[in-house]
Parts: sequence; structure tokens; C-alpha cells
Amino acid sequence: MKPPPAAELSPDAPVGGTEPVDPAAREAELRQNLAEVRERMRQACSAAGREQDELTLIAVTKFFPVTDAVLLAGAGVTDLGESRDQEASAKVAEFGRLTEQDVRWHFIGRLQSNKARSVAHYADVVHSVDRLELAQALDSGVRRAERAPLAVLVQLSVDADPERGGSAATELERLADQVAGLDSLTLAGVMTIAPLDVEADRAFGQLEEVAGRVRVSHPKARMISAGMSNDLEAAVRHGATHVRIGTALLGRRATPFR
Ligand SMILES: *Cc1c(COP(=O)(O)O)cnc(C)c1O
Repeated sequence: MKPPPAAELSPDAPVGGTEPVDPAAREAELRQNLAEVRERMRQACSAAGREQDELTLIAVTKFFPVTDAVLLAGAGVTDLGESRDQEASAKVAEFGRLTEQDVRWHFIGRLQSNKARSVAHYADVVHSVDRLELAQALDSGVRRAERAPLAVLVQLSVDADPERGGSAATELERLADQVAGLDSLTLAGVMTIAPLDVEADRAFGQLEEVAGRVRVSHPKARMISAGMSNDLEAAVRHGATHVRIGTALLGRRATPFR
């Protein structure tokens, strides 16, 4: 796709839908928030007796403008997360026009199979694979896009709430085997979202256990994507390799997930 001429692009154009703000003030705010989140991650690792370099920060930029994503990348963030295809596809394309910085894009939201083809074009990792049909749609999307295999995580549902997505623990190992059998996907690990009404330690403990079982047959599936702004410490206690942080970095959104 040919990018539009530079004159048509306003770096302040909000892809995510917030009002433009003074860029220098926003940069200072994001850098401050980033320093605080990194300090929480450092302390959580130290309390859990883990090395800091075992933990990767994914900055979740959904609902915020692409300019925030560019500022975060400029501050050293290497991994960005999005949860809606329409917003993500526009943001990834615009990010590439605004900066040369290379980041990994993580698709972390609920995904309909008919959007899989689009996501397969720009995502480096998809965290939310919870059914075979979706895995197959991604697999064929990757083949059409003629790109390298796509890393995917299988999503555990701790409480079977359809709103958050995910597959029950009893079915997750089978799904993992099925994903691993698809040529254009690589099984990279597991993910969950802790329900608000379930103790985070219990949810992440369950994920850690499933992750261990999946690794028996798939030793390379080492990613454990767990932990958000309010529960990253619990996730780190239970082996998280990737935390997905939105609010603590970027500020409040209207709704917690979308
Ligand atoms: C929005 C979102 C996050 C970030 O949540 P915060 O509480 O804002 O840190 C993490 N994971 C998923 C799947 C999300 O949709």
C-alpha cells in the first residue's frame, strides 16, 4: 500500500480518539508513567526472585492516538498492544509513516475469524487464540499475506465469561496441539485476563500450571502473557514473561477492555 503524501498527515491526528494535547507535555507525562511502570516491574521481579530481563513490557495503546505510540517507542518501548482490528490496522500503518522505529505489534483483543486475515498482515504476535476456527483463519491469512509464520498464544479462560474470551483449561492443551500443527503459525505460549472477581493469584496460578503442561509437548512455547495495570505483581509471581499495560502508562479509557 502506497502511503499518502506527507502533507495530508497530521501527526496530531488521533487514531485512538483522544483530544490532541501539547506534545511536549504528553511526552513528559508518558516518560514519567513509563519510569513508574518499569520500577513496579523491577520490584515485582526482585520480590519474586526473577531476573528483570525475563519480563517484557507491552504498552497497550488502544484508544490512544498513534502519536502516543510513537512517543513511547521513542522512550524505549519495543512492544505495543492493540485490541481492535480497525483501530490497530490504521495505527500500525500510520506508525510506519511517522517513524522508522521498529516495534513488535501484539494483537491482544477478542478476534472474530473474519478479521483474522487483516490481523495476519500487521501483527507480530496474536495473544487471543481461543478456538480452532480462529487459528485456521489466521493460518490462512498468513499464507495469503506471504509472510513469516505468525506467533500465537492460546488464551485461557479462568471463569468461562464470553466477554473476555478464552478457552477452558481442559481444552487449552488440545487447542495448543492443534495450533502447533498449523504450518503458518508458531505456538509461542499462553495468555489470560484475570477476571475482576477472581483473585489474581488464583487466575495466574492456573495459567502457570497450564503453561507448564503445554511446554511438555511444546518446549518453545515459553511466553506467558499475564498482568495488566492493576495486577502485574501477581502475574510476575506466577511466571509472566509479558505484561500488558495500558492505563498505568497512558491514562484512563472509557471502558476497561475495548
Ligand atoms: C486493555 C487491555 C489491557 C490493558 O489493561 P490496563 O488495565 O489498562 O492496563 C491488557 N490486556 C488486554 C487483553 C486488554 O484488552
